[in-house]
Amino acid sequence: MKVMLATGNAHKLKELSALLPGIELEKPDAFACEENGLTYEENASIKAEALREQLLKNGIAIPVLADDSGLEVEALGGKPGIHSARFGGPGLSQAERNALLLKTLEGKDDRNARFVSVLVYIDADGRKTTVRGEVSGRIIESERGAGGFGYDPLFFIPERGCTMAELSEKEKNEISHRARSAAALKEALNV
Ligand code: IMP
Repeated sequence: MKVMLATGNAHKLKELSALLPGIELEKPDAFACEENGLTYEENASIKAEALREQLLKNGIAIPVLADDSGLEVEALGGKPGIHSARFGGPGLSQAERNALLLKTLEGKDDRNARFVSVLVYIDADGRKTTVRGEVSGRIIESERGAGGFGYDPLFFIPERGCTMAELSEKEKNEISHRARSAAALKEALNV
């Protein structure tokens, strides 16, 4: 089954392709849209609908998929959440964002956090399926590990005894929030 992924990001295409082996994911030549929703579900929906419209305008009626994800830290009331990619402002590097997160949590006992991933799939007839995956952990005091991306070096998973960045790609793909939302999508679509 061919599905167009609402992203301009080749890394996302690769990661989701590995998680959804029954689906042949492709990325549009050009795609951008404003993510102004208030939830992951709204943002993923906005992206999926924008891509569907873009394709329909060109006479292409194939299923589309979009994702939205983020890190929620309990002591920060769930922040940065949907703003995770821009935490601290648009000009920061990821290392600066991680340093800012550590600084913001200084002196706080509650380090619980979770990663959230939401996928929105719209089939060729316009029927929408929304799924969510989460993984719980806690934010440690300094970075550990070189794998993954984003907040992975700060995200400790108690059951594994290591951070997300210390897992291999294969191990991350067994337990991550995106692995869980992808599994839920496979079940919902029966693929
Ligand atoms: P978006 O889904 O492209 O809007 O980006 C979500 C942001 O959440 C990313 O830029 C990262 O900062 C963070 N994030 C989402 N998933 C992960 C992950 O698997 N590891 C580390 N950070 C993540």
